[in-house]
Amino acid sequence: MRHLLQTALAAAVLLLTASFHTGAQGPDYDTYFTPDRLRVDFILAGNAQEQHAYLSGLRKECAWAGSRASLIDPFRYGEYMFEVRSGDTLIYSKGFSTLFQEWRTTAEAREVSKAYTQTVWMPFPKDDVRITLSERVKETGGFREIFSCNVDPADALISHEAAPDYTVTPLLTYGDMEHKVDLLFVAEGYTEKEMYKFHRDCRRFMKYLFTMEPYKSRRRDFNLKALDVVSRERGTDIPNRDIWKNTALNSHFHTFYIDRYLTVPDHKAIADNVSGVPFDVLFIVVNENEYGGGGIYNSYALGTARDRQSYKVFIHEFGHSFAGLGDEYYTSEVAYENFYNLETEPWEPNLTTLVDFDSKWKDMIDSGEWPEDQVGIHEGGGYMAKGVYRSREDCRMHTNTAPDFCPVCQRAISRMIDYYCK
Ligand SMILES: [Zn+2]
Repeated sequence: MRHLLQTALAAAVLLLTASFHTGAQGPDYDTYFTPDRLRVDFILAGNAQEQHAYLSGLRKECAWAGSRASLIDPFRYGEYMFEVRSGDTLIYSKGFSTLFQEWRTTAEAREVSKAYTQTVWMPFPKDDVRITLSERVKETGGFREIFSCNVDPADALISHEAAPDYTVTPLLTYGDMEHKVDLLFVAEGYTEKEMYKFHRDCRRFMKYLFTMEPYKSRRRDFNLKALDVVSRERGTDIPNRDIWKNTALNSHFHTFYIDRYLTVPDHKAIADNVSGVPFDVLFIVVNENEYGGGGIYNSYALGTARDRQSYKVFIHEFGHSFAGLGDEYYTSEVAYENFYNLETEPWEPNLTTLVDFDSKWKDMIDSGEWPEDQVGIHEGGGYMAKGVYRSREDCRMHTNTAPDFCPVCQRAISRMIDYYCK
């Protein structure tokens, strides 16, 4: 569901040895950062051939919810890498993906240049820092810098504007946000009078999340909240049926002309609405009965609230946005050829081209801890029938009918939970 692009050519893929900095001592939070959050707004512009990034705004926001120990991204997943340096010292980094990068793989991007907004959040620096944005290079799998600038925290033009005054409802609280995964449900297409429905929908998703491993065993590592973002009209845009709704985040179906692909193309609309709330990850609940959703790593995931399959879409899309999991399917009509560069290892932890299988789940096979039908090598995944492999016949990243996530996905999710809880 993340890449519902029938028209697409391949997105960038990356050779990457996931290095887990388990023992290493990272930067000291209090030396470099205040307890606040800095929001960095970018414009990403370009086409299939090239992209450029421009800084469009800086804003001091509420408290930083992230771990103060996990400042350097140990995973390096995603199509972009955001890095912050104090002098020569790397003090913060985070990988992510964007809807713009997906759009760059569509046929349209060969004909026209477009611009998308994209926000990145980081802890607020105490002193001057240099921020860098890099893109994943498909040919090599590595990163290449596309933007950098200095940020002076005393800059008079860093906005301190008050955030929107929306109600925040705690759904589940297990502890300090720096040691928990803070998941924020955001209302989209709910009018003021429908917030009771939004809370009911959130609770349904929450209940479902904790029926499935590894979330079930890790329930106490989460805090969940609901943010009542008020829309003037209920629902969402369905352009292919000429249905247009005035909603807070301006979500719509038919993204890239694909009926069921529901997204929020304007990332700044999300950022503006959540600017007063500390969070680690977002899930946008869309007040709609149709089937649809999407999930973009470390940007956001969203799904409709009341389709029969909504909760299954939720846990699948959240797998993309939270844990960087790739789609394990390849036989559906959304499959396309050569999505991954078979010469490099994909960054997604649950897919492999066997170029660098050691960085994936080879250790799980070698350990003999799992039967072969649970952890093995199955050809087909990532929209490709050949050359890309998944670990188990079926998984929630493969179908909505799988009993659970495969052990490889479960481990990847667990590692992500550890990262936020350190
Ligand atoms: Zn899986």
